Amino acid sequence: MGPLIFALATAPGRAAVAVVRLSGDGAGPALRALAGSLPPAREARLRRLRSAAGETLDRALVVWLPGPASFTGEDGAELHLHGGSAVVDAVAEALLALGARPAEPGEFTRRAFQAGKLDLSQAEAAADLVEAETDAQRRQALDQLDGALSRRHEAWRTSILDALAGLEAAIDFPDEDLPDDLADRARPPLIRLEAELASALADAARGERVRSGYRIAIVGAPNAGKSSLFNRLVGRDAAIVTPTAGTTRDVIEAPLLLGGFKALLADMAGVREAIEAIEAEGVRRARAWADAADLRLWLVDSAAGVGAWREAAPLVRRGDLLLLNKSDLSRGRDAGEAAAFAAGKGLETLRISTTAGGSGDELRARLAETAGAALSGGEFPAATRARHRTRLEEALHEVRGALSETPRAPELAAERLRLAGRALGRISGRIDTEEVLEAIFSSFCIGK
Ligand code: GDP
Repeated sequence: MGPLIFALATAPGRAAVAVVRLSGDGAGPALRALAGSLPPAREARLRRLRSAAGETLDRALVVWLPGPASFTGEDGAELHLHGGSAVVDAVAEALLALGARPAEPGEFTRRAFQAGKLDLSQAEAAADLVEAETDAQRRQALDQLDGALSRRHEAWRTSILDALAGLEAAIDFPDEDLPDDLADRARPPLIRLEAELASALADAARGERVRSGYRIAIVGAPNAGKSSLFNRLVGRDAAIVTPTAGTTRDVIEAPLLLGGFKALLADMAGVREAIEAIEAEGVRRARAWADAADLRLWLVDSAAGVGAWREAAPLVRRGDLLLLNKSDLSRGRDAGEAAAFAAGKGLETLRISTTAGGSGDELRARLAETAGAALSGGEFPAATRARHRTRLEEALHEVRGALSETPRAPELAAERLRLAGRALGRISGRIDTEEVLEAIFSSFCIGK
């Protein structure tokens, strides 16, 4: 059992109830000292909490959670206090006097991981659940907490270990009565595994996007109305709208809720040959963001007639949306030209006006549909963080390496498979260094 730690598990500030969590060596005696006696395990009891000097600190519901059947696997307790900061501070003082120390971020979950209650990706899911703002994030985090991600990876790891066992038999007993083609036989399952890993990776961005947001870039020439559209969709004046071209220099991002999905909307510099260095840098950033985005809203000033639409046209791809803006004004030549270009590229076209009427609800609904289609899928995604994706890429690379070595060099193939298995083992934290654990758990909130 680790040293006794405690933390406020609820948000700080005024509230009806504040929950203080306690875990580690001496949790039982500490609770007894505070509450007079230990209540029956896992049952809530109303108790008067007292300091060592006998002063009443609060009347609180206390729960005694003896290990190993606790979240951390250690002896622990919960104190449901009245949620004022003076109460919480007084109880924290009393706990310090009893030898407990404040927990570090993620320390409770880390102990649960170390006790084998959760693997690493489940621990990450616990943190994701705390951060979840949308239905999709909540569902994904819950499934991952239930082991959906771990099960997929474990199945791959098992196939790797099976193939490895076959190869090792071929290496260990080359002259025995084993069939000659033992090394050859490792190929078909490895080919299947390679295909599965490759297709899982192709779909891996979905899980990360559910967590961090579907990325939508507003692109277009200066003055097309990008900032106006951004403000309309975000619902506040986050970006500056002016008739002066080249006002937006940096990429401005804002989160957006789209029918149960989180999105990240970005307004950016208008794409054109920049006249000075700051704008040129803005255009470079805009291009990079737009290029990595999941969807580009290509905004064209439909009243214009000077070919301004051409500037941003190279950025768009099939599946993006052309928005012909300023539909309240009379139509210029650019509208028809841009629409013809969009049709040829497989983009759908919508006519909008960001300044005249309309709340943007129709466009918002349309975006929710697009995001929903992109982020929903049959199977649980193979990665929900860059950390998972990197390890999967590594595993795929090693499986490919193993395939290129079989059946010629079974020893080398076996080594590549060991590396592939290790890469997958790192995702669940079966194999990992202190450093990685430190980085992961320190991003959690305190009390989790
Ligand atoms: P950006 O440079 O692409 O970000 O464009 P802005 O959002 O700053 O808009 C440029 C100018 O076009 C501003 O004067 C806006 O008021 C105007 N504007 C934007 N959308 C519309 C629209 O739908 N109709 C009309 N008439 N003017 C618009």
